[in-house]
Amino acid sequence: MKITDVETIWIGLPEVRLIADSTQQSLLVCIHTDEGIVGIGEAHTAPYIIKAIIESDSTGIVSQGIRSLLLGENPLEVERLWHKMYHYTSRHGRRGAVIHAISAVDMALWDILGKAAGLPVSTLLGGRYREEVKAYASVLMPDTPEEAGELAGKIRSRGFCAAKFGWETLGTDLAADICRVEAIRKAVGRDFDVMIDIGYGMEVNRAIKLAWALEDYDIRFLEEPLSPDDLEGFARLSEATSVPIATGEKETTRFGFLDLMERGRVGIIQPDIARAGGFTECRKIALLADLKGVELIPHCWSNDILVASTLHFLAARPQETYLEFCLLDSYNPIRQDMVCEPLRAVDGEVKVPTGPGLGVELNQEVVRKLKRD
Ligand SMILES: [Mg+2]
Repeated sequence: MKITDVETIWIGLPEVRLIADSTQQSLLVCIHTDEGIVGIGEAHTAPYIIKAIIESDSTGIVSQGIRSLLLGENPLEVERLWHKMYHYTSRHGRRGAVIHAISAVDMALWDILGKAAGLPVSTLLGGRYREEVKAYASVLMPDTPEEAGELAGKIRSRGFCAAKFGWETLGTDLAADICRVEAIRKAVGRDFDVMIDIGYGMEVNRAIKLAWALEDYDIRFLEEPLSPDDLEGFARLSEATSVPIATGEKETTRFGFLDLMERGRVGIIQPDIARAGGFTECRKIALLADLKGVELIPHCWSNDILVASTLHFLAARPQETYLEFCLLDSYNPIRQDMVCEPLRAVDGEVKVPTGPGLGVELNQEVVRKLKRD
């Protein structure tokens, strides 16, 4: 089998607002082959940049365009192709956007591998330990304790047993943060996991104060309270509190995650399969986490291409853990209708797709409507 084209599809809502919702745009990659099999992948990041990285001319041996590196290659050789892309983009790559682009390609290659074998990706990853994955509802933190409690109650009544409240004004007023967490805990009771996601960059001493205050509310984890590069801060914070500290949605490659675990000493890492390096790299990141005794709970806040990928990845992990499941109220066709059979949470669980490859197919009508140049 040979790769005949690497197509990039930039989709976006007609109006993209600067709010804490990165599901308003997406860059899809479709890899075409001479046998008619097409693999789909997603880079969950800035679409225009990823398009350029894939379609770019080659400007030197180790600064090549990804598309040109893949044309004519055998798509089934996923590990070799990952290394080829990593090595021959190493002057402008190795971390960040280039790894996001490699993630989308790698996802599409695994989709092809599964379709060629007639098997779901989770089977190719070693086998499924479960057919459904428990999900935590991922929402934005409301402004007031009353609204926070009400939202938490609603999530619980929909059958979820865990929820993460993130971003917005969290981290700016510690007393207000604690009031909202208290209201959430009161609304859901004790047998419910509550996670808090600051989203970025508190000063470490304030983060320690917040973590100490959260200890009274049995928080499952505190996510991204510090800058992703403040590894010394993460180590100090993790040492100072019993609340597990989670981070990693902006991190890429096993090298970045090894640093987070060894220098940052975090309790939970959160690679995003559509950013950290695809299945090929996330398997290695998972192995490192297992060796270090660090929990891995992937980041997943995007459309159903990433949700399907994350489900396959989690189904093939012996350790049972949560799928992050975005539960924003507003209708968004990218998030809710990107594939023909959307992945829904029922009683707090999401079924792992059973078809070959990722087991989801693009809803071409939605793609056509939202495609941008
Ligand atoms: Mg987050």
